[in-house]
Amino acid sequence: MTTLFDNIFDSYAYSYPHKHSYRSLAPLSLSALWKEEKKDALFLYVHLPFCEMRCGFCNLFTIANPKDDMVDVYLDALAREADTIREVVQPQHFGQMAVGGGTPTFLEIPQLEKLFGIIRKLGAQPELLPVSFEMSPKTITAEKAQFLFSQGVDRVSMGVQSFLETEQKSLGRPQKNREVFAALDLLKKQGFPTINVDLIYGAQGQTPDTWLYSIDAAIRYELDEIFIYPLYVRPLTGIAKSGNAPADNRFELYLAAKSMLLNAGYEQVSMRMFRKIKPDRPVRPLVYSCQEDGMIGLGAGARSYTRTVHYSSEYAVARHNIKSIIDQYSMKAAADFSQADYGIILPQEEQQRRFIIKSVLHNSGLDISRYRELYGSHPLTDYPQLQSLLDEGMAVTEGQLFHLTSRGIDYSDAIGPWLYSTPIRTLINNFALQ
Ligand code: SF4
Repeated sequence: MTTLFDNIFDSYAYSYPHKHSYRSLAPLSLSALWKEEKKDALFLYVHLPFCEMRCGFCNLFTIANPKDDMVDVYLDALAREADTIREVVQPQHFGQMAVGGGTPTFLEIPQLEKLFGIIRKLGAQPELLPVSFEMSPKTITAEKAQFLFSQGVDRVSMGVQSFLETEQKSLGRPQKNREVFAALDLLKKQGFPTINVDLIYGAQGQTPDTWLYSIDAAIRYELDEIFIYPLYVRPLTGIAKSGNAPADNRFELYLAAKSMLLNAGYEQVSMRMFRKIKPDRPVRPLVYSCQEDGMIGLGAGARSYTRTVHYSSEYAVARHNIKSIIDQYSMKAAADFSQADYGIILPQEEQQRRFIIKSVLHNSGLDISRYRELYGSHPLTDYPQLQSLLDEGMAVTEGQLFHLTSRGIDYSDAIGPWLYSTPIRTLINNFALQ
């Protein structure tokens, strides 16, 4: 046990600064924001905030069963936003792309065709990039899989959460296993190079045996990637409202899954991500660096990153607030997309901290010499907490690389938030979630 952390499951630091630190900004012109930025290896993220149901654990920016022509009106706005971005940001080259949400396969084929038309017009060539596309068992069809494959999608990611219907139900995501297996079969048949499923541990009534049943099912399916997510009962979600918080056996479940996956020939890339070791898997060259390259987000709820400013639309969890933000987005004229008015400005210290957090929580680790080149100082001098991780045996240095040990990775959800600055932590704590 370590004395550094009281709580192993503090929160998931998948980005820094967290979106709860965003606030209204005096409008900033995107052409000025992006003028001095490197634009030859950008990440393109497209957000489709629509799902066929609202899962009980989910606090993502999405709406279930949108009515009437809401999706089509949204796609029209997406096209206007992309046109404005092309003009004012002038992206040179995209190095990676992801379409998420929500459930992008909620869209029908003509809508998917329109989506890819928008993406290509912006200048991305999906067949040449690592491209990830999210989906659900109920909304993916053979026709959609074939279309996505033909467009160049090389990684598909499906939220399954559990291979036991009782646990799916307790997570507030009722679905039929026959639909899940049918969806996996058609993705395999289509030949996507990487198939990922997301699983959740910590559900009500889940035991090591029932959890390992799901892990084993994913392994037997020979899935390329398996993401395991600890259940966080977040405010305003279905599980939080039910007042039915499960008993916390997450660390035990996590360690059991880790052991089973490593024994089955998976490598651990991060606390959540396990990848099948498969030397012959076709992999498109990755030129985008999450620590250094910018991100262009399209759509309501999508975030965009320059070195000095992160921005997006506003964020909400309650249905009527999400709907109102999507409606506002959909009514915007092209010119309205030329400025950022919600987000956070990152002073140099926060840029450095971001570099550290994004590097440390991944198995590729922190490149000390690159940090010195960029910021002119040593990360262990700037952030003495990193020394504590070394002292506790949670990290090691090998030459110019600082990385977490296997035990350190187990504590990622404590280490990430522990590395947040005090101003960011204060902003997050004061965020009024609606
Ligand atoms: S977990 Fe996925 S499918 Fe469920 S509501 Fe959230 S985005 Fe939609």
